[in-house]
Amino acid sequence: RTRCIFFPSTMFVGSLSSVAMIGVGAVFVLRGAMTLGDLIAYRGYWWQLMGPLFSLSSINDMVQRAIAAGSRVFELLDEPEEIRDAPDAIALDTVRGDVQFKNVSFAYRARDYVLRDISLHIPPGGSLAIVGPSGSGKSTLLSLIPRFYDPQEGAIFVDGHDIRAVTQRSLRSHIGVVLQDTFLFNETVLFNIKYARPDATMEEVIAAAQAANAHGFITELPQGYDTEVGERGVKLSGGQKQRISIARAFLANPQILILDEATSAVEPESEFIIQEALERLMKGRTTFIVSHRLSMVRNADVIAVIDDGRIVELGSHAELMQNGGLYAEMYRMQMGEEWAEATAAPASMGQDL
Ligand code: ADP
Repeated sequence: RTRCIFFPSTMFVGSLSSVAMIGVGAVFVLRGAMTLGDLIAYRGYWWQLMGPLFSLSSINDMVQRAIAAGSRVFELLDEPEEIRDAPDAIALDTVRGDVQFKNVSFAYRARDYVLRDISLHIPPGGSLAIVGPSGSGKSTLLSLIPRFYDPQEGAIFVDGHDIRAVTQRSLRSHIGVVLQDTFLFNETVLFNIKYARPDATMEEVIAAAQAANAHGFITELPQGYDTEVGERGVKLSGGQKQRISIARAFLANPQILILDEATSAVEPESEFIIQEALERLMKGRTTFIVSHRLSMVRNADVIAVIDDGRIVELGSHAELMQNGGLYAEMYRMQMGEEWAEATAAPASMGQDL
């Protein structure tokens, strides 16, 4: 409100004085008390003075905004960290990728449980797909693996180590995440891929981009790897951004992989290339997949169906189909017309598989 009043008022006074000057100046010129040249010169000087005055007033505005924004930034920085390394936390140098959930229950707010009594075991290199209605707790379950939150009950183990007993930095260095919405910096393609491992060589970056099916489109960009991607990658399509994030994951080479709706925000024509890149990325890594794409889910070693925070079914695609439970029902439903719609327009789908 202050800006809305301040700026127009300054401009109004400025313009008014200009009109007054011409009016009064004209009278002086007509009376012969001033020459026309004097008036024009006076106006010229006057404008030279006004420019810096306007700048000063806008600097004041910028300072006020910076003070307000700064206090919000510091508010966030001063927020106490909820997840801390234990004093005797160990660094996990290498991992095989054995992940186990033991009776895990989790609530964002006291006693409002989002996950209840989850027990799962994925051996190194295995894959687990998690399916269930929206809001059933799939993303929450994934977010517990890099220890973004600690469960209230139970524990999660990586290679037999309780993740609360290892350093967050070492734990997260073994986990790669590909989400629906990729974050890209307003920098070059090269910077955005190398972000995963800044000391990587150009050969390694190209190898990662090739594995991610991204090298082709990158070399066709105006400046190749040196092309700026724009704010949040606006100059690239959803599929291209996703392939850059897959290249990042290849370069980081983590043993544990989390794919949360990784193919949801991409245009249908690049979906196949992305899926192919993801399958290549998954090879030999322990992978957790949340996807409403049937093909991504069906090939997983184990599928967990979650409903209201509980695992209601667990098994391979064939086993779950044979059981004829919720999964089989969702599968059959989506195989029909709805599935065709879902693959054509994923964003409009209210319910995940
Ligand atoms: P899904 O991935 O299956 O759609 P989510 O794990 O995102 O489900 O959400 C499970 C439940 O937890 C939902 O009821 C959601 O509103 C709630 N939830 C998710 N994230 C948060 C959060 N950061 N704070 C509080 N509640 C959350």
